[in-house]
Amino acid sequence: AAKDGGRGRFHFYSSDLHSAAEERSLLEQDLRDAIADGSLQLHYQPVVHTATERISGFEALLRWKHPQKGFISPGKFIPIAEDTGLIQPIGEWALRTACKDLAEWPDDIRCAVNVSPIQFSNPQLPAIITSAIAEAGIAPSRLELEITESVFLNNDEGTDAMFAALKGIGVRLALDDFGTGYSSLGYLKSAPFDKIKIDQSFVRGATEPGSRNGAIIASITSLAQALGMDTTAEGVETLDELDLVRMHGCSHIQGYIYEKPLQPDAATRLLGTGLTAVAKGPKSTRAPR
Ligand code: C2E
Ligand code: MG
Ligand code: MG
Ligand code: MG
Repeated sequence: AAKDGGRGRFHFYSSDLHSAAEERSLLEQDLRDAIADGSLQLHYQPVVHTATERISGFEALLRWKHPQKGFISPGKFIPIAEDTGLIQPIGEWALRTACKDLAEWPDDIRCAVNVSPIQFSNPQLPAIITSAIAEAGIAPSRLELEITESVFLNNDEGTDAMFAALKGIGVRLALDDFGTGYSSLGYLKSAPFDKIKIDQSFVRGATEPGSRNGAIIASITSLAQALGMDTTAEGVETLDELDLVRMHGCSHIQGYIYEKPLQPDAATRLLGTGLTAVAKGPKSTRAPR
């Protein structure tokens, strides 16, 4: 279609956009029902402590099994939820569900839950978290909130106050997808993060000759260490990548090399077999996506 003249091209994109908008509004309606009809789930991906190869916890990841369309990726429905405000009830459901599941697991297991910037700017968020923790009867330090740099876009007293309120509850805070956004060292100075998650785009390709990614990973981990923060390397898929992120000092590792995100009962079963994780990915070839 790109070879067509200007007009043909216009029509191509215009009808494309039209159907995308239509699909979006259909999905939005279904998403409204998704909490009530049980089609939302949390899957849990193990996070492994590098030095001991023990599972230190999980990251909770939303899954939506659409009644007709099957699994729809969070990359597709989270933006719709954010644009429509549905992320508030969905995010609250995720927090409450993760806390309930945590209550079933050993006390030294943590769980991380992703918190959208839209939730972060909701003044009710601390009250929601406090009640989710109390309802489940878990120690607040077992819950970790993953927050992306975009919460700093409109950095004001509200941002500082929210960080202070969340820290006051005693939950842990992780800076997600570090390095992909408007990364500023100023955030690390002022915001009380316990962990930096190194985005998988730095891990990808890091083992290729001439890649600068290894140097970047090494700098982030040494900075984090100096600031008393943990680091998780995200998206580790191969044994070579595992060696590399270990060598560069990442304290935690998450990726298909250990496990994909698991159904809750599979996560529980895995914990039952002992807390040791086994690397079982390919040496150097990445899984097809
Ligand atoms: P994220 O928080 O950075 O989560 C990590 C993503 O990397 C997940 O994708 C996970 O399945 C994927 N991943 C983990 N290991 C590997 C690996 O070795 N290779 C590859 N290729 N991918 C790996 P997922 O589950 O599709 O989630 C995508 C994003 O959707 C998340 O990125 C997060 O930003 C958002 N999301 C998911 N669940 C929630 C939620 O409950 N609330 C909010 N606000 N956002 C969520
Ligand atoms: Mg995350
Ligand atoms: Mg991430
Ligand atoms: Mg991400």
